Amino acid sequence: KVLPSDSNTTNARRQVFEATHSYVNPKTPTKPKIIHVSKEMANTIGLDESEINSKEFLSVFSGSKVYPKTKPYAMAYAGHQFGNWAGQLGDGRAINLFEVLENNKRWAVQLKGSGETPYSRQGDGLAVLRSSIREYLCSEAMFHLGVPTTRALSLMLSGDDVLRDMLYDGNADYEKGAIVARVAPTFIRFGNFELFAARKDLDNLKKLTDYTIKYFYPELGKPSKETYIKFFETVANRTLDMIIHWQRVGFVHGVMNTDNMSILGLTIDYGPYGWLEGFDFGWTPNTTDRQNKRYRFGNQPNIGLWNLLQLANALYALVEEAEPFETILNRYQKDFEEKSLDMMRSKIGLHLKDNNDLKLMTDLEDCLLLTETDMTIFFRELANFNIKNSENGISIIAKAFYQPNELKDIVIEQWNSWFKAYHRRLMKENLSDMDRKQKMNLVNPKYVLRNYMAQLAIDKADEGDYSLVDELFQLLKKPYSEQPKFEKWYAKRPEWARHKVGCSM
Ligand code: AMP
Ligand code: MG
Ligand code: MG
Repeated sequence: KVLPSDSNTTNARRQVFEATHSYVNPKTPTKPKIIHVSKEMANTIGLDESEINSKEFLSVFSGSKVYPKTKPYAMAYAGHQFGNWAGQLGDGRAINLFEVLENNKRWAVQLKGSGETPYSRQGDGLAVLRSSIREYLCSEAMFHLGVPTTRALSLMLSGDDVLRDMLYDGNADYEKGAIVARVAPTFIRFGNFELFAARKDLDNLKKLTDYTIKYFYPELGKPSKETYIKFFETVANRTLDMIIHWQRVGFVHGVMNTDNMSILGLTIDYGPYGWLEGFDFGWTPNTTDRQNKRYRFGNQPNIGLWNLLQLANALYALVEEAEPFETILNRYQKDFEEKSLDMMRSKIGLHLKDNNDLKLMTDLEDCLLLTETDMTIFFRELANFNIKNSENGISIIAKAFYQPNELKDIVIEQWNSWFKAYHRRLMKENLSDMDRKQKMNLVNPKYVLRNYMAQLAIDKADEGDYSLVDELFQLLKKPYSEQPKFEKWYAKRPEWARHKVGCSM
């Protein structure tokens, strides 16, 4: 029961029942302007250079023009936010335009920041330049890092001002409005299933699940209880794999609410995310989560499991048996420990398995926590470790210390003893220093989107200079490669940026 989209009155904020989505057209922007286009993404959906540069591109991906015969829509979903049931949420500022079939792949294209929908609640449905640059740069950077993610096609200014924080003196604070066109096979989330389960709307829960399987998990077969269980199992595996990738590159999502968990195991909703600078399990970029730190780096795998439990609760109604779900959830914990250890092995250049590897890793983590140590630089420099010159391990990675001149003797001792164990362990491998380095450099990025880098690009863009957006975009296309002309971005966070983290609005 979807309401017609003929008039804007249907956009009224409300509870929408018995519907997966509501038709709603994007708001026409006043003066849209392209800031950046991801050519890789454009090509993937079949657009060439001349099409990117066409007026049509500007009109369609700014929301000015709706293609005839397409019906843009906002999806209904619910979710658990910070551990609490939040009821109906939905696409409050995202509007799906259409799907593109290219090379037998299906791509849903949606605009973020294109105005209100029935799900906008207290919000205006708009996005500001700051958060749009962050989403645009980071989602493409994650793709090039090999992390499962939604993609970004274009970043535009809307030409409209957006009201954000009211300053204490009562004056309004306006920011530039922006629109990101983002792309994924589908944007369906755990929360879409939770919505129907919570309302005991079994009919639509089944339709949604069957649809998801038919289009995105066709290999699982025809709808049946067994298929639903296999579906859940596959989602659990993909979710875990995604989170292991996050741990590998030092990405902290920041808002792992169930409405931000993709049913395809893609990183979705780049809000207050951040990148680890100093290695720290307790770090979160989300300033609204500083008390409980629910979404801190070290807790991401646990939250993945908690979120999967909510999805299991939703799908239970289709299966009416708890045991298969419990088995899968119990396995997640074991799989996590195993996959996480394998991932850490690859980061330090081990390819065989040894019984003491877990101890070697926890000792390494203890060392990394002794003093502020840059995660990205540490693993990149560790690749220069030399088996024949094993005594100077600590000097090889010293570049990663934020205060290299203030190392206490006890810290140095602990590192030296770890390097001794590492050396002994490497002797069991049969790779040359060169080969090991090459392999390590394929899993340890040299360049990531450090929080201050995004901030610098935002500050310049705010003054109308988009050169840094482009520079970072180009840099992050090859995160594992040496790029001498960009060497300045291989550096620790400068001190002025210590407490600066981006924001999500
Ligand atoms: P998030 O924390 O970004 O995942 O957002 C949670 C919910 O709030 C989602 O349903 C969003 O669509 C909605 N939302 C966030 N920002 C806005 C906004 N500016 N206008 C309308 N809805 C919003
Ligand atoms: Mg969200
Ligand atoms: Mg968001």
